[in-house]
Amino acid sequence: MLEKSTNRAVTEAMLIPALGYAAKDSLSRLEPFEFVRNDAGPNEVQIDVLYCGVCHSDIHQVKNEWFNTIYPCVPGHEVVGRVAKIGPGVTRHVVGDLVGVGCMIDSCQHCDPCLSGDQNYCAGPNSWLSTYNGPMMPAARAPGGGNMYGRDNTFGGYSDVLVVKEDFALKIPPALRPEVAAPILCAGATTYSPMKHWGVKAGDKVGIIGFGGLGNMAARLAKAMGADVTVFTTSAAKLGESERLGIKVVFETDEEQLAALTSSFDFMLSTIPEKHDINPFIKLLKRDCALVVVGALEPLAPVNNQLLAFHRKSVAGSLIGNLADTQEVLNFCAEHGIGPDIEMIAIQDINEAYRKVQQGEVRFRYVIDMASLKANAKP
Ligand code: NDP
Repeated sequence: MLEKSTNRAVTEAMLIPALGYAAKDSLSRLEPFEFVRNDAGPNEVQIDVLYCGVCHSDIHQVKNEWFNTIYPCVPGHEVVGRVAKIGPGVTRHVVGDLVGVGCMIDSCQHCDPCLSGDQNYCAGPNSWLSTYNGPMMPAARAPGGGNMYGRDNTFGGYSDVLVVKEDFALKIPPALRPEVAAPILCAGATTYSPMKHWGVKAGDKVGIIGFGGLGNMAARLAKAMGADVTVFTTSAAKLGESERLGIKVVFETDEEQLAALTSSFDFMLSTIPEKHDINPFIKLLKRDCALVVVGALEPLAPVNNQLLAFHRKSVAGSLIGNLADTQEVLNFCAEHGIGPDIEMIAIQDINEAYRKVQQGEVRFRYVIDMASLKANAKP
C-alpha cells in the first residue's frame, strides 16, 4: 500500500509514483520510502528534484522536537530541480526551467499578510502549507477544524519529484550553481529577510551568533552587503573557517572579548538551534538596535528587560522569508558571486549527516545529490 500525498480529488490515473527517504517515527532512521503524488494540477508545476539542502529544522522535525511531526516524515525544504511538467494555466515557468522551492508550497493568498506579500506569516485558517509536514496550522488546531489544503501531510524534497503551486517555485539565476542555490532557499531567505527588514547596510557592524548552516549564510550575506561582520562561535575548529572567509570571530564564552564589544553592534542575529541565554549578546548592541533570534523556535532563557529598556534595544524573532525576499536573496547571491559553503552527500548517507550536523562537524551545509536516489529505485 503506497502512502498518498494528494491535495485534490483525483483519479488513480493522475497519481505519479515518487521515491524518497522518510522517518517512520521520532526514533527511526530515514529509510527509502515509496509514495504517490498528484501530478501537476491547475497552476502547479511538477519538478524533478536535483539537489536538496539539509537544514537543522529537518532534524528537529524528524525527531519531533517541535511536538507536531506527522509521520511518515519526508523532510527537505531547500530544493532545486527542473520543471518536468506544467499544469493548466501555468505562466511563470516552462518545462526545463531550473527552479527552487523553499519552506512553503502554498498559502491562503487572501489574508492581509498574503495580500501584502508575507505568505510566511499567512493568517488563513491553516496558515501556509509547508513543503513537508502539512499545513502550519493543522486541522486539529485550525478555527473550524478544517483543512483548506485537503491534505494533512506533505512530503518534502528528500525525494525524486515535487509538485507545487507555480508561484512557490522561484527562478534559479543562471550564475548560481544549482547545488549551491539549494540552501539559499531556506538558510539564505531566513537570514536575508531579517537583515533586510531591520535595514542592515554597508558599514554596519553585524554580529552572527552560531556559525552553522544559517550562520555561514548570514555572515556571507552581511559581508556582501558591506557590513563589518563578526561571528560568535563555541567551536575552536571554526576559527580558521572564519579567517578564510575574511570574517572576524569571537568565542561566545570569552568574557573579556565580549566586554570589549559592549554597545558596538548595529544588528545581531542568533542562529543557535536550542534554548540559550541572549543577555550577554544584548549588551553588545548599540542603543535602538535589535537582536533577532531565528534559531531556537522555543522558549528562550528569560531576557533581562533592564538591558533592553535602558538603551531602547529590541529582541525579535523572524520566520523564514516571503517569496519576494527568497527570489531577492537568490538574485543577490548571483550578483555578488556568493553562496553557502556546502558538502555534497548521497541520500544513503543522510543518517550519518544528521549525526554530524548535531555534532557541529559539517562545513557548513550538506546538500543531497538526489541522483543518488536512483540506487534505491526498483529496476
Ligand atoms: P546548524 O546546526 O547548521 O548550526 C547551528 C550552529 O549553532 C552550530 O553550528 C553551532 O555553531 C551553534 N550551536 C549549536 N548548538 C549550540 C548550543 N547549544 N549553544 C551555542 N551554540 C550552539 O543549524 P542551522 O543553521 O541549520 O539551523 C539553526 C537553527 O535555525 C535551527 O534550530 C533551525 O531549526 C532554525 N531555523 C529557523 C528558521 C526560522 O524561520 N526562524 C528557518 C530555518 C532554520 P558554533 O559551532 O559556531 O558554535
